[in-house]
Amino acid sequence: TRVVGAAANREDELVEASIRPKSLDEYLGQPAVREQMKIYIEAARRRSEALDHVLIFGPPGLGKTTLSHVIANEMGVSVRQTSGPVIERAGDLAAILTNLQPHDVLFIDEIHRLSPVIEEVLYPAMEDFQIDIMIGEGPAARSIKLDLPPFTLIGATTRAGLLTGPLRDRFGIVQRLEFYSTEELARIVRRSAGILGIDCDADGAVEIARRSRGTPRIANRLLRRVRDFAQVKGDGRIDADMAVSAMAMLKVDPEGFDDSDRRLLRMIMDNFDGGPVGVESLAAALSEERGTLEDVVEPYLIQQGFIVRTARGRMATAKAYRHFGLAMPGGKGD
Ligand code: ADP
Repeated sequence: TRVVGAAANREDELVEASIRPKSLDEYLGQPAVREQMKIYIEAARRRSEALDHVLIFGPPGLGKTTLSHVIANEMGVSVRQTSGPVIERAGDLAAILTNLQPHDVLFIDEIHRLSPVIEEVLYPAMEDFQIDIMIGEGPAARSIKLDLPPFTLIGATTRAGLLTGPLRDRFGIVQRLEFYSTEELARIVRRSAGILGIDCDADGAVEIARRSRGTPRIANRLLRRVRDFAQVKGDGRIDADMAVSAMAMLKVDPEGFDDSDRRLLRMIMDNFDGGPVGVESLAAALSEERGTLEDVVEPYLIQQGFIVRTARGRMATAKAYRHFGLAMPGGKGD
């Protein structure tokens, strides 16, 4: 469990329930998404229709679940939450769909992990608000059509490329969440501090935000760790000095990197001469799974320009060498 990991742990889940924004106004950052959703929601409400189906994609912790709840709140409807791997049988999905109220939101997290059989049930449900279900068994079995209330499916996925074409095509609205700026994260930290009763000044919030890898979930978690430190080493107040000392103890560097990031970068630079190195070789050298490397460790390093993905593999950039105070081999990148 990394303190700067984007996946939710149990503590995150408990705390997030209390600090999750409920309205579009509280949902900070993502200006383009907010502006568009405001219009779509307003239009659907004026027509007294269910909102069109929404696909939200983006790395973990950026606010996909939060946005789906915000949308339901703004529409004035309830949200039913489930996830791709949990829906095992067509009957499970049918039970959920037939219990929705008109215009309700059905949120399916990790929608790319739905089985093909379930996807087939979903298509007519999304398109015509109808499902075909089988009644009985053997020769007496027959299929009946059931009408569903008009509803909004909100699907979330970490990578849009993992979705099948037919499923993706059935979403009228597609939103991609971006990593947050330091300034946006600082506002999120201060908002959370206010709700949790933590005394955190503007400079302290910026120091936390800077190391949060563009991710609200990480910002909120670092805030809680810095609060622990401030309560034991100080009087509980968080300012820039306190935040910096706490992060040093947590071994989170000024870029928000932890040991696994540094290990990955040093491996490319020291053992593979800066790359290119294939992802398989890299995973083997680090004893990591390829998927973990690609989905968890790499994205932020790539987004920040510390490594690049080329056809022949990963390469460390001049920025990576500078981060460690090293010169690039062969004078490359100067
Ligand atoms: P995801 O579903 O993408 O993994 P979540 O929606 O669970 O991410 O977001 C994680 C936490 O980060 C939320 O509980 C919330 O507290 C915070 N958060 C996410 N997006 C925002 C935002 N735009 N403004 C404020 N807080 C946010």
